[in-house]
Amino acid sequence: MENYSFADLKNKVCVLTGGGGVIGASLAKGLGSVGAKIAILDLKIEFAEKVADIVKQETGAEVIAVEANVLDKASLQSAQKIIIDKLGPVDILINGAGGNSPKATTKHEFITEENVSALDETFFGLEIEGFQKVFDLNFLGTLLPTMVFGREMVTRKSGVVLNISSMNAFRPLTKIPAYSAAKSSINNFTQWLAVHFAKMNVRVNAIAPGFFLTNQNRFLLVDEKTNELTPRGQKIINGTPMGKFGEPEDLVGTTLYLLSDVSKFVTGVVIPVDGGFNAYSGV
Ligand code: NAD
Repeated sequence: MENYSFADLKNKVCVLTGGGGVIGASLAKGLGSVGAKIAILDLKIEFAEKVADIVKQETGAEVIAVEANVLDKASLQSAQKIIIDKLGPVDILINGAGGNSPKATTKHEFITEENVSALDETFFGLEIEGFQKVFDLNFLGTLLPTMVFGREMVTRKSGVVLNISSMNAFRPLTKIPAYSAAKSSINNFTQWLAVHFAKMNVRVNAIAPGFFLTNQNRFLLVDEKTNELTPRGQKIINGTPMGKFGEPEDLVGTTLYLLSDVSKFVTGVVIPVDGGFNAYSGV
């Protein structure tokens, strides 16, 4: 009988892209708490350094902050050299960098008789540049780090990749067509890569967070002036059977499970962590 715990994650070297963000910080703390060695990668080095300091202080883990752009292979390769030099070969990659853009967000949920005279406020006014940015960040920003760090895992026949999907990957959310389609591509890619790597002992899975109040979605969910929920924020709460937004710490347990050998026969899955949102038809 095996002794089930996350003890196998101790001293594992974990790269966390977008690690300077809200969800990244929470996952880094979780990894630190089980003794993993963590490289926090972020486009904004000051964000990465801040998270690294907090995680070091709170967990005593070995953590480094590294500046890297997930859309630039050379930048990822330089980061890889630093990480191998300071922490050792990479065992785990979490593709956390991602997000939406207001330029790829419609003002209205529906085209109606009331707004048909202002079509630029609907799908027709979306900026291609915004679409490009969102697709690049979410899809290419997962693909490229996996190419760089996954190569070494496949060669060593050991490793785990964890992607970050979203609720909108299963059913698109209104107003954010680029982000929905881009996250949907993450689910598909997770399955594709899981199959491709399966014979080399490298697993690929994803978590799909429900609704968490963070920098990228706050403008849609909370009224800046009154701090009250927007009608969209209220709809989300109504559509979440547990009746609340998630706390970033709520993602840690599922993440550790998918990274640990506890789930060693699990590959190609996308696990919702959403208070029941994805299961609920609203009726
Ligand atoms: P966040 O905006 O707080 O953090 C994202 C981090 O990525 C930032 O520190 C940013 O500097 C960094 N980043 C941006 N572009 C980068 C690039 N080119 N290279 C390297 N780093 C870059 O976002 P978050 O809420 O922590 O989201 C993390 C992940 O979770 C994203 O993939 C997001 O789409 C996903 N997600 C978030 C929610 C939510 O409710 N917040 C829900 C579902 C999925």
